[in-house]
Amino acid sequence: MNTLFKRKKIKVYLWVLTISTATLLTIGYVFGIEKNFVLPVDKMNTKSYNQKSFWFGPWGQSIVHKGVDIFGKIGTNIFSSTPGIVIIKGYNKIGGNAVMVLSPDLKVHYYAHLESINTTLFSTVSAGEKIGTLGDTGNAKGKPPHLHYGIHTLFPFIWNIDLSKRHGLRKMFYVDPIPYLNQKLNFKRKK
Ligand SMILES: [Zn+2]
Repeated sequence: MNTLFKRKKIKVYLWVLTISTATLLTIGYVFGIEKNFVLPVDKMNTKSYNQKSFWFGPWGQSIVHKGVDIFGKIGTNIFSSTPGIVIIKGYNKIGGNAVMVLSPDLKVHYYAHLESINTTLFSTVSAGEKIGTLGDTGNAKGKPPHLHYGIHTLFPFIWNIDLSKRHGLRKMFYVDPIPYLNQKLNFKRKK
C-alpha cells in the first residue's frame, strides 16, 4: 500500500514537472528574446560596442566582464530589449543607477550606469519601452559614458561552462548579449 502510494506521488510529481517545464518552454518560445529583441540603446550601431567585450578579463572587481558595454552620449534613451517585469531598480556602487528586467523566458536583463531611471519597480514593460537614459554612474564615473548590458539566466546553461576561462563555472548563468545585437544590426562576427 505504502509503496503504491509513493509511486503515485512520484507519478504526479513527474507530471507536474513535465507540464510546468513544457509551459515554461512554450512561454519562453512565444515571448523569447530571439523573436522580440530590441536594441537597448537608441541610435546605436556596430561601432558602439566591442565584439570581444563579453567575458573579457581581467576586469577589476568583477574579474571578468559579464556583459557588453554600449557607448553613447549621456541622456540617450535606453529601452528594455525584451518584454518583462522590472524586478530591481535603484543604485548600487558598481552599477550606479541600475534596472533589472525579468523576461518571460526566465532571463534577467541588467541595465547599469544609467543617468536616470524612467520606470517603476514591478511594472511590466514591453520590448522597446524606455526604462532610462544612458549615463556614467557607479564605477563608470570618469570613463566614457556607456550602458552595461548583461543577460543572466536563472536556469543554468551548463553547456556554457568553460573551465579554461576565469569564472568559467559561473558562465552557465550568463548569456552573451553580443550575438543578439549583431543579429539586429545585420553584422556577422568573424570567428
Ligand atoms: Zn560593463
